[in-house]
Parts: sequence; structure tokens; C-alpha cells
Amino acid sequence: KAKERGNQVVFYSSTLNGISVRKMELENGLRKAIEKNQLQLFYQPQVSLATGQIVGAEALIRWQHPDHGFIPPCEFIPLAEETGLIVPIGKWILIEACKQKKAWEQNGISGFPIAVNVSVRQFEDEQFIEHVAEVLEETGLESGHLELEITESITQNLELSSKTLKQLKDMGVILAIDDFGTGYSSLSYLKHLPIDKIKIDKSFVDDIRQATTYRSMVKTIIDMGLNLDFTVIAEGIETEEQLRFLQKNDCHIGQGYYFSKPLPAEQVKELLLKGNG
Ligand code: C2E
Ligand code: CA
Ligand code: CA
Ligand code: CA
Repeated sequence: KAKERGNQVVFYSSTLNGISVRKMELENGLRKAIEKNQLQLFYQPQVSLATGQIVGAEALIRWQHPDHGFIPPCEFIPLAEETGLIVPIGKWILIEACKQKKAWEQNGISGFPIAVNVSVRQFEDEQFIEHVAEVLEETGLESGHLELEITESITQNLELSSKTLKQLKDMGVILAIDDFGTGYSSLSYLKHLPIDKIKIDKSFVDDIRQATTYRSMVKTIIDMGLNLDFTVIAEGIETEEQLRFLQKNDCHIGQGYYFSKPLPAEQVKELLLKGNG
């Protein structure tokens, strides 16, 4: 038994060790991922629930690691935030997304914004406003064609956040609150911030399949958003049932596998040319 216990200790410590080795490997890899061209943006269409037209696209990062294969953003974005690497990576994401959007415009595809996720750490970086301004200037993208998705957690530092949001709004950038409903926040403070859109988190859209009490929560969020004059987007729509419920309750925009998975830019271009021509 003692031996077994001994083995267990060895087993656990080597597992823990294994995790930290992987983390260190990932961190080192992440530092070089940009220059090694391993990062790529995919784009997921956002669809008007009234017309079925594509009215936006969200950029989502992908990391193709030479040894570990595909690493999902939920694994390396937190690491990038922890290490501060999110600042240079975030700037790269902004540049790539704006360049891509500009390229689509040069192909005659226009009339919708490109949505880019912004981490709290990146948003709170003192150079963030400067980065956004630089990227818009360098790519020549109109500020009104860039949308930034920011989570509710920025309101933990409300003074700084309001100032940054106001600066972005003054620049003409569109502002969306991502993962809405998952934070501790209420809609009430949002009306004092220059927000344009709220994105209802997938976890609430998942509930549409279930009991009516859950459904009414989605309806409540939509109604509050509409009352405050926000554009309301629902993410993670997978079924027709969810789509119908959201349409019936006047949600403006939808995003999810029901319409399309996130795709490489080239494939989104085909969808855009086909659907919005
Ligand atoms: P998010 O911003 O809430 O993005 C939505 C996630 O749901 C994406 O996962 C998307 O691929 C996935 N999704 C969309 N529709 C459906 C659906 O119908 N069903 C299911 N099951 N999933 C759906 P992804 O791309 O793995 O990204 C996960 C998270 O990683 C994002 O959540 C975001 O928080 C973060 N992330 C992704 N790209 C970036 C980025 O460029 N910058 C930053 N800062 N974070 C990013
Ligand atoms: Ca998002
Ligand atoms: Ca989400
Ligand atoms: Ca998010």
C-alpha cells in the first residue's frame, strides 16, 4: 500500500509537472508564433435575423502549433493574458482583421463591420487607444467599419473603462459587450457607457431548447437591450428552434453553426459574394 501511495505521489507530481512543462512550452511557442506565421484568423458570419443577409463577421484566432497541432484559443488566450503577450498578439489580430476587411472592401464587399475580440488586459493597456488609431491609419480602414467586442469585466475598473470607451467612441469605432449575461453586471450601468451592441452569450442561447423559465431569461435580456436602444446579437445559434425563438422576440442579429462555422477568409469571401451580391 505504501508503495502504491508512493506511486500515486509520483504519478500526481509528474502530472502536475507535465502540465507546467506544456504551459512553459506553449508560452515559449506563443512568443514566436507571430513571426513563425502560426497564427491565423478565421471569420464567422453574423446574419440579420430579419433579412438573412450577412451584416458582420467576427474574427476568431487560431494557432497551428508544429508539435501540438491545433491549439484552441480558450487554452492560449488566458496564457497570453497572464504573460502580457496578449498586447502584441492583440495588436497583430487588429492589424490582420482590419487588413482583411479592407481587402474584402477592395473586392466590392462592403456595408458591414469586422468584429474583433479585445481582452481586458489589452483594453486596459495604456497603449491600446494608440494601437487602434495606428492600425486604422495604417490599413486605411474607416473607423465605423471596426467593431470591438469587450467583455463585461472591464466594468470592474469603471473609471478607466468609461474613459477608454469614450475615446474609442469619439474615434467612430463600434462597441459591443461580449458574453453578455455571464458577468455579475446589470444592463443599468451600460446605459451610461457609449455601447452600441450587446452579444447574448451562447450559454443563454443553449437554454432556448429547454424549459420556458430559461427561455424567458433570453427574452428578458433581448427586451432590456431593445429598450436601451442597443443592437442585440445572439451567439451560438445551432438549431432552427433557437433561430425562430430569437426572431419572434426581435433579436436583431444571429451568429452560430446554424448559419456557418468560423471559416478562413477566402471561404467567407465566397459566402459574401454569393449571399450579399
Ligand atoms: P467568444 O468571443 O464568445 O467566441 C464565440 C466562440 O463560440 C468561438 O469559439 C466560436 O467558434 C464558437 N461558436 C460560434 N458559434 C457556435 C455554435 O453555434 N456552436 C458552438 N458550439 N460554438 C460556436 P473559439 O473561436 O474557440 O473562441 C473561444 C473564445 O476565445 C472566444 O469566445 C474568445 O473569448 C476567445 N477568442 C477567440 N479569438 C480571439 C481573439 O482574436 N482575441 C481574443 N482576445 N480572444 C479571442
Ligand atoms: Ca466574441
Ligand atoms: Ca461567448
Ligand atoms: Ca469572449
